[in-house]
Amino acid sequence: MATLLTLILITALLTALFFLQREFQKPYLYSPNIKTLLYHLVADETYGDYTYLFVREADFERQLQTIRDMGFETYFADEPERARGKPGVVITFDDGYIDNYTTVFPLLKKYNMKATIFLITDMIGAEGHLTAEQIVEMSESGLVHFGSHTVSHLRADLATEYELQQEYLHAKEIIEELTDEPVLALAYPNGMYTETAEKLAAAVGYRYAYTTDPPFDHYYDNTRLPRSYVVRDMPHEQFEALLALSN
Ligand SMILES: [Zn+2]
Repeated sequence: MATLLTLILITALLTALFFLQREFQKPYLYSPNIKTLLYHLVADETYGDYTYLFVREADFERQLQTIRDMGFETYFADEPERARGKPGVVITFDDGYIDNYTTVFPLLKKYNMKATIFLITDMIGAEGHLTAEQIVEMSESGLVHFGSHTVSHLRADLATEYELQQEYLHAKEIIEELTDEPVLALAYPNGMYTETAEKLAAAVGYRYAYTTDPPFDHYYDNTRLPRSYVVRDMPHEQFEALLALSN
């Protein structure tokens, strides 16, 4: 009888522990007070068809000043929970262009702000993109974290489950090898995500996966976090509106 009671007690305890541990594993409950900005390039000169991706340097600096003047702390894309629900800004860059080192990095140092760059690992060292040395230097500065944007900019809606799994895994491994830091954040190429992509991202070990959907809701899963595009010629008032708090 005593043995049976002990058994029941142990089972109850283990069940409680299982649910507690599951609660603590949830790394981040989305907070609408965290404003995640999506940039690509900061450059006055443009090239190619997508000129809207090139935010002018003076505009970018003014945006950083506004973030500072509005009293926001900046956070990395892999640590939004550090804000503990308080207002914060997560500055992100997709694709890993070279201006992120030549133009953005000096400004981050000037204003002591954090940014996260999502790298396409096949493009590291390619023309117009960050080199391995620049990535290491920025990582060591403590102002830049690197996330994954897959190996080849593979769109979730155009790939097989196997291809996606391989790219999510390999890009993570390549960046971790390079920076000697854990890579916990993924940005879906072209902002495209599927249920399979979300599942794979979590299974491979990403705690946060970012889309290009603008925030409109009060709750998001960690596997589909929204971001607000910042583009060339965006009026400054519009940028300020992106930072407006909902409460
Ligand atoms: Zn991209």
